[in-house]
Amino acid sequence: MPIPLTIATIPLRVLLIEASEDDASLVVRSLTRGGYSVVFERVESPEALTAALDGGAWDLAIADYMMPRFSGTAALELLRTRDPDMPFIFVSGTIGEDAVVAAMKTGAHDYITKGQMTRLVPAIDRELQDARVRRERKRAERRLAHLAYHDALTDLPNRTLLHDRLQQAVLGAYRTGKPLTLLVMDLDRFKEINDTLGHHAGDRVLQLVASRLRGTLRDVDTVARLGGDEFALILPSTDLDGAVATAAKVLLELERPLVVDGRTLGVRASIGIARFPQHGASAETLLRKADIAMYLAKGDSGGYAVYAADRDRQTHRRVTLATDLATAIDHDEFFLEYQPILHLRTGLVVGVEALVRWNHPLQGRLLPAEFIQLAEQTGLIHRLTPLVLDKALDEWPDADPSMPLTISVNVSSRNLQDPELPDRIQACLKARGALAPSLALEITENIIMSDPARSMETLTQLHNMGVRLAIDDFGTGYSSLGYLRRLPVDELKIDRSFVVGLGAGNDEVIVRSTIGLAHNLGLSVVAEGVESHAVQGQLLAYGCDAAQGMFISEPAAASVTREWIARRNAFGPAA
Ligand code: C2E
Ligand code: MG
Ligand code: MG
Repeated sequence: MPIPLTIATIPLRVLLIEASEDDASLVVRSLTRGGYSVVFERVESPEALTAALDGGAWDLAIADYMMPRFSGTAALELLRTRDPDMPFIFVSGTIGEDAVVAAMKTGAHDYITKGQMTRLVPAIDRELQDARVRRERKRAERRLAHLAYHDALTDLPNRTLLHDRLQQAVLGAYRTGKPLTLLVMDLDRFKEINDTLGHHAGDRVLQLVASRLRGTLRDVDTVARLGGDEFALILPSTDLDGAVATAAKVLLELERPLVVDGRTLGVRASIGIARFPQHGASAETLLRKADIAMYLAKGDSGGYAVYAADRDRQTHRRVTLATDLATAIDHDEFFLEYQPILHLRTGLVVGVEALVRWNHPLQGRLLPAEFIQLAEQTGLIHRLTPLVLDKALDEWPDADPSMPLTISVNVSSRNLQDPELPDRIQACLKARGALAPSLALEITENIIMSDPARSMETLTQLHNMGVRLAIDDFGTGYSSLGYLRRLPVDELKIDRSFVVGLGAGNDEVIVRSTIGLAHNLGLSVVAEGVESHAVQGQLLAYGCDAAQGMFISEPAAASVTREWIARRNAFGPAA
């Protein structure tokens, strides 16, 4: 071992491929003098080189060009099979120019003759620096490649990688005949989390969901984020029973409270399941079918659903409608019709109910049954309801004192969970100088049951503003009159299914007792769906306050309804 001549500072592990011990010492001495603290091993055969490479990590190789039992170019070739990047420098006696060129072509980094040893240290400095740059560039490239295939927020595989893996899984399942299932999952009400708690909280939720998914599934399963709040799970070697059990497990796991920014949230999701080969034999088809099944699951109010061909057509339409719905708001494709509400004893029109319609560019006029639920699921209801409110208040300006009317607008459960709703309504009224009592909001009873505390808060605020509140479709939900007593509501609308029944001699008892109890609670009662003179007469006899329905008037454009009301009120109580 040579003794260092100066105090060396930079550690350097050198592999010396050199037959002569003296020449090796010469190299080491130069390096040490150049400021390196050298650790080296000298080898002179392929076997020894292999052993040295196996034995440790090296910063650099220096090789003689010609040795009795080895050649520099053979050494270089061998080394490149192990480490394509390690700096490699020939240090040799003079050889022909051709040999130098050949050596450089095989991938050596430099060639130094033994008579030019002063060049050695600068050459090594440069090569080590270059090697560092190469390593960093490779790391950056790997990072970029990772980002191209992974989602930056959750670090899960992205849609591209999922697609690749799914293709591989399909091929594997073909080959082995083993089952394969694909799950597509979408979080319910994620938009609400984003809207009410902010994007930061939304991001946190996605990260937590991602780690729960990873934690719940097996290592062979792929968990990917498709974008937004959509995830996909590939379950290889898993049949339908296994997939259903996994879906249930995932849903349960997500329901465990999540703590985000100090708040505790419960997350629910809908999962669609598609299986290979029953539902599709390609990655694309499986993804599409799982997506459709996911929509089915949402329609079934959460949980999971397995793809079913017979429900596909209908779902396809829903999926298309869901995408159209977003642009419909921007393109102002909605309009309102109004159905008059008649005070039974006086025969005067006391209000109109605004009913939204969608003028779809391809499908024509659509009724709320076709899109309200979708609007709720996609969160678009938060934009739709204010739009309906604006239109309704614009079309029935409060200015005409000869026609004091209440404008009723239907409000969805999602709207009640929006803490800004009361302020927004206040602003709406104020902008038009309208009075709060001229507005009634209709709320179906199940809404209130889904989040009683939150709904109660919003309802109380609205009530204190003076807005009238009505329970819509009463009788179809689970709430008792006793429960409703605790709500700050003014009015109860008996669902049309009971009212229609009156005409057929049914539901008499229900309708009568509902009217009686409601009056006891200080609520006024409106009957919906009056389709005949006889039913209207019965309702009057039972003491029902008001009614609406086809027999009285169908919903129509504001101008038509306004004329109808003018004519009707001119007749007065006689009608
Ligand atoms: P709803 O609030 O109970 O409205 C009454 C529904 O009964 C309307 O259906 C109306 O056209 C229909 N109707 C009126 N008279 C009769 C009759 O004599 N017989 C029968 N069988 N039906 C009658 P439409 O317009 O299809 O609306 C359906 C539901 O959609 C509404 O039920 C309401 O819950 C919801 N909706 C309507 N507009 C909006 C809205 O702007 N926002 C929200 N969130 N929901 C709305
Ligand atoms: Mg209504
Ligand atoms: Mg109703």
